[in-house]
This record gives sequence, structure tokens and C-alpha cells, in this order.
Amino acid sequence: MNVYTIIILTALLFEYVLNIVADLLNLRTLSTELPQEFVGVYDSSSYKKSQDYTRTRTRFGIIESTFSIIVTLVFWFTGGFDYLDQIVRNWNLANIWMGIIYIGVLVLLRSILSLPFSIYSTFVIEERFGFNKTTPATFIFDIIKGLLLAVVLGGPLLIGVLAFFQYAGVLAWLYCWIVASVFILFVQFIAPTWIMPLFNKFTSLESGELKNAILSFAHSVNFSLRDVFIMDGSKRSSKSNAFFTGFGKNKRIALFDTLIQRHTVSELVAVLAHEIGHYKKKHIVQGIVISILHMGVMLFLMSIFISQQELFDAFFMQNISVYAGLLFFGLLFTPIEFLLSLALNVLSRKNEYEADRFSVETIEKSEAMIDALKKLSVDNLSHLTPHPFYVVLNYSHPPVLERIKTIRTLKT
Ligand SMILES: [Zn+2]
Repeated sequence: MNVYTIIILTALLFEYVLNIVADLLNLRTLSTELPQEFVGVYDSSSYKKSQDYTRTRTRFGIIESTFSIIVTLVFWFTGGFDYLDQIVRNWNLANIWMGIIYIGVLVLLRSILSLPFSIYSTFVIEERFGFNKTTPATFIFDIIKGLLLAVVLGGPLLIGVLAFFQYAGVLAWLYCWIVASVFILFVQFIAPTWIMPLFNKFTSLESGELKNAILSFAHSVNFSLRDVFIMDGSKRSSKSNAFFTGFGKNKRIALFDTLIQRHTVSELVAVLAHEIGHYKKKHIVQGIVISILHMGVMLFLMSIFISQQELFDAFFMQNISVYAGLLFFGLLFTPIEFLLSLALNVLSRKNEYEADRFSVETIEKSEAMIDALKKLSVDNLSHLTPHPFYVVLNYSHPPVLERIKTIRTLKT
């Protein structure tokens, strides 16, 4: 076995096992005793339902990741990567087109294999717990739109990366980085106005008590807000949320219609204040800067490894190519990507505390933030007492009880 085989195989298996361990530990934290904080908010039957939900989702996740790792390893060690490469090479196309087809076919295969899981998750699990509002038509159109978007946005980027690494010599990674950075900014910029409306309807919040409360809050914290959007989240799920996207004049705050239905005006202002907090504390800019730096490091490392004969040997390849190198490097990067995701989760959880703090310090009734968090947890059947190890691996937001505890200490 060569050194790349050992690194990649170990990383894949290690991450797989670590996630299973975290899942099992997390399942053991499900207790029937309702935390004191939620007495009167959760009734005993919906608290039990939330635990069933966590159990069901966890088991489903274990089955899915087991399937995924088996398929990957079988494809790898039966020489699938080379087999597909030989088929594509027989067509005698230019290198870049071979690359597009090679990667395109693998992406498509992956999507097809994950389709049954996605169908089961939406129409069986989410349905059983009363969340699913997706119709089969919406489900199918989502897939078609997603694929088209991948072709329209991802296609040109992939062509660019393949072309630079094929023809531009040692500085290819730098040119790629510049192009990819512009691409990241461009997508951020068009996301609120061009991409998201393909999937959801955004209507501006009508005048009334809520809009007045939101606008006067935004004014009080010097946040220029011309409009607030309602997103028809109920088209797919009864779960609720709020988010902030874009930057500059294109920035947009959207509240799910499901959120508006179930929360009071002061709770909604608290949630919105949290979102504005993310903006004010520069978390949005921070996120963009991190993804651009991440891209740069990855492209630089890729330029070192992409033509290593041994990396291709590890995948039983007869020919070296930029496109396959791109893919194999992606797998080689798995351990670094894993560590990076842990660090990003730490940062994200810290940012959530900061946004909570901003909200509590700027709204009139700080209790409203706590009430909103409680309602959100109940409506989304959140697990209230996750295992700390599971949180480290998977949570981008701190567990709700810790958020509430932290907010209470802020008040005093
Ligand atoms: Zn947040």
C-alpha cells in the first residue's frame, strides 16, 4: 500500500467511526426527564416525540453514512476511478471536456445514489413527525433546479480551474484563487436576488405592527433596513427559521412564514435583532474572508499534489490527469477538512453567543429572546441535552439550554 492510500483510507475510516461514536453517545443522553427550563413549554407527549425524532434521525444517519463509505471503498478498490477514466478517454475529446464529463458523471452517480435516502428522509421521516410539506412536484423541481444551477454556476468555474491547471504552469493555483474568489463574492451577491427566489417566494412584509416594530428597532441600532422579507418556508417544511444573506445593497433579512405564524412581535424582533447582530459583529464578512482563505490554501496545496504519480497509483490509475488529480486531492484533503470543520464550528458557536448578546442588549424585553429560543426548540423538536462530544463534531449553534443560561447571566 502506498502512503496516500494509507492516509486517505485512515482518514475516511477514522471520521466514520468518530461520527458513529458521537451518535451513540448522543443517543445515550436522551432522558425522559424534561429539563426544568422547559417545564410548561414542552408537554410530555411532544417532549417524547422530540426524543423519538432524534433517535430516528440518528439511526437513519448511521445507515446512510455506512452505505456511503461502503460504496466509496468498493468503487475505489475495484478500480472504478480508472474504469470510468478509460471509458471517457476512448471518446478522444480535449482534456478539459474529458474532465467535465469525468467529474460530471461521478457527481451524477453520487446524486442518484443519495436520492433514495433523500426521498425516505423527506417523505417518510419528516412526514411521520409532521414536518413535511414538500409535494412530490416541489421535490422533483428542486432536484432539476439544483442540477441546472450546478451546471450554470459550477460548470464555468470547473472549466476555469481545469484550464488553469492544464495550461498556466506553476502559478495556476494563484489564477484559480483569484477567479474562485471573484466567484464566491459574485455568488454571495446574487444569492438573495437571483438564486434563492428560484426555490422560494419572497414577499415583503406588509405594513402593520410587526413591520413598524422591526423598522424602529433597526433604526435604533443604526442599521439601514428598507424592507423585511417573508419566505414561504412552509412550502417544504413546518420547521421555522430566519436568516441573513448577501452584502452591500443586496443584503436581505428573511423570516420564514412559519416563524411569523407562531411568534409574538417582540419575539420576532428579538430573532431579527440576533440576525442584525451577525451583521453588526461582522460575522458575514468574516465568513466570506474565511472561505476565500480556505480556497487559497486548498488550491496551493493542490498544486503541489496534483501531479504526484503515487497519488494516482493509490487509485489504480493508468493515466495522470488534472481532473482526476482534482478529485483525489479532495479525498487527500479529508483530514485537514475535518479539523477545519471542527474549528469553524467553534467559531460559529462563538458567533451565535455574540449575536444573542447583541440581541439581548438592544431589544427592550430580553426575555423575548429566551421565549423565542424555547419556541423554536419545541417547534423543531430539537434535542435539548446533546452529548458534548456530539456538539463538538456537529453543532454550528450552541445547545439551546446553554444559550438560555448565557443570556440569563447577561441580564444580571
Ligand atoms: Zn445566529
